[in-house]
Amino acid sequence: TENSAVTVAVRVRPFSLREKGENSHRVIFMDSQETVVQHPDTKQTYTFSFDYSFCSLDEMDPHFASQQMIYENLAKPLLERAFEGFNTCLFAYGQTGSGKSYTMMGFGEEAGVIPRFCEELFLRLSRADNQEVTCHLEMSYFEVYNEKIHDLLVVKDEQNQKKMPLRVREHPVDGPYVEDLSTTIELFLFSPVSSQTWLELGNKQRATAATGMNDKSSRSHSVFTLVMTQTKTELVEGEEHDHRIISRINLVDLAGSERCATAQTSGERLREGASINKSLLTLGKVISALSEQAQSRRKVFIPYRESILTWLLKESLGGNSKTAMIATLSPAASNVDESLSTLRYAQQARLIINVAKVNEDTNA
Ligand code: ADP
Ligand code: MG
Repeated sequence: TENSAVTVAVRVRPFSLREKGENSHRVIFMDSQETVVQHPDTKQTYTFSFDYSFCSLDEMDPHFASQQMIYENLAKPLLERAFEGFNTCLFAYGQTGSGKSYTMMGFGEEAGVIPRFCEELFLRLSRADNQEVTCHLEMSYFEVYNEKIHDLLVVKDEQNQKKMPLRVREHPVDGPYVEDLSTTIELFLFSPVSSQTWLELGNKQRATAATGMNDKSSRSHSVFTLVMTQTKTELVEGEEHDHRIISRINLVDLAGSERCATAQTSGERLREGASINKSLLTLGKVISALSEQAQSRRKVFIPYRESILTWLLKESLGGNSKTAMIATLSPAASNVDESLSTLRYAQQARLIINVAKVNEDTNA
């Protein structure tokens, strides 16, 4: 086993047209690992230190952090660990509009972490001319909305509109998983093009579901999962033995972290607000309990099962995983309070210690 702290990065995006229009000025500054906030009202300065502070505010800046740079520093090391047989997880946290989806998914030339991760994974698998190891890959993509799980790789037509949401189950060894979740297997194996097609389908479904429902995508968490099984057949005393290592990779785009002021309204909106709060609130509780546990070095109760998201991410948070978090920020004065709350959250996540081990399975 290997103990390791959660790697935490923050990223500030460029000004949006709206922020430019409002003449909102810049309050977030970055200098190597440090992120500095200058509060526009109190004039107070807050300094935070992270594993990485990525400034994507101005392309002309010599320290400008590109999509490629984020991938190289944050995601690629997780890919390496996955090949070694560790579980890995990267999640994006931040207020709506701060750049979570841009970072995780991106678009076109500005591809984000997930398509880059897939591309490199497939490239490596297709290059591997190692005859003794066979690799099996499963991909799934789902969202958690209103504490319910919906498969993004199943096309929603008239018939399955009424389909029951999927349920979480817990395997005694592998931990929690989504029951009956579709996985694309051989279909896209070794084919970056086809994985791209699946991603597009998932993204489209996430978007379609959003129409009509006020701003649904900001209230849902999307989880992209790859399960990679490497099997090596060894000859021991004339008998063949399969030696398997399994790694689960979770790439998560969380719901907007802003305080749900809309939760005051009635009916559906209230329930939506309340349950989004539930998963994010529980994530906050889990992170704070884990950081307390790491500091006090004694067992603390971790409320994983209080929400769907934290239950599913159980192994990724303080468990058997190499985990990284990217917190995204708006540079503008108008968002300073949300930015400060995001930074405090990220600061706390940095205290979590995960205990990761290679998932081995040897059978005759
Ligand atoms: P979120 O998923 O956190 O709600 P988005 O990723 O959708 O936010 O970003 C909001 C808007 O800002 C989008 O139009 C997106 O293209 C743009 N944006 C976000 N981050 C960046 C960035 N680093 N560089 C350029 N544009 C960005
Ligand atoms: Mg988004």
